[in-house]
Amino acid sequence: MHLAFLGPPGAGKGTQAKLLAKELRIPHLSTGDMLRAAVKARTPLGLEAEGTMKAGKLVPDALVLGLLRERLQEPDAHPGCLLDGFPRTVAQAESLRDLVPLERVIYFEIPESELLPRLTERRSCPTCGAIYNLRSHPPKAPGKCDREGSELVQRPDDREEAVRTRLAVYHRETAPVLDYYRKSGLLRTLRADGSVEDVLAGLRALLP
Ligand code: AMP
Repeated sequence: MHLAFLGPPGAGKGTQAKLLAKELRIPHLSTGDMLRAAVKARTPLGLEAEGTMKAGKLVPDALVLGLLRERLQEPDAHPGCLLDGFPRTVAQAESLRDLVPLERVIYFEIPESELLPRLTERRSCPTCGAIYNLRSHPPKAPGKCDREGSELVQRPDDREEAVRTRLAVYHRETAPVLDYYRKSGLLRTLRADGSVEDVLAGLRALLP
């Protein structure tokens, strides 16, 4: 099965993608995670993308497409995949047509007022990738991962100024992708402001 998740930053796409991909036994392909790994490894591509990401802007289509194309060639992605954070522009959606036969696109709908606190209060474990929220899902010991005990970190682009840019970029560049998939009949809308379990149940009901 080939799926894609669309929606604003902070809607919970990553959290749900991890759970659903495991359940469906397909790889979770997050272009944001791929780019962050490239930044961490200091690859030429990572160095090129770093400043743009930190500011909350979109990395050029060609660069992201190159990364995704390479990843899709790995055998585990042949039977299907769950795309998270891609496509983010209509041009990316058009290029994707030649890469995978998408069966469903899920739009994570959430009130705008929830997004800023979800993002600015998000922290993650640099060791295992677990995601916390200081208000709605705090770690047991302040600032430390429940599983690893590592010091939790904040993504540089989760600082308020970058978050505001990311939301503006979403409305300008990514919202038109919704119409693109609405016209093709692939889009389904998911209410994404409930508990993790409730949203996952809603998500299952929208699968082909
Ligand atoms: P995410 O983890 O999906 O929030 O992505 C983090 C950042 O990576 C974004 O703010 C962009 O700078 C970059 N990025 C991720 N996916 C894409 C994409 N499909 N196109 C352009 N930039 C992307």
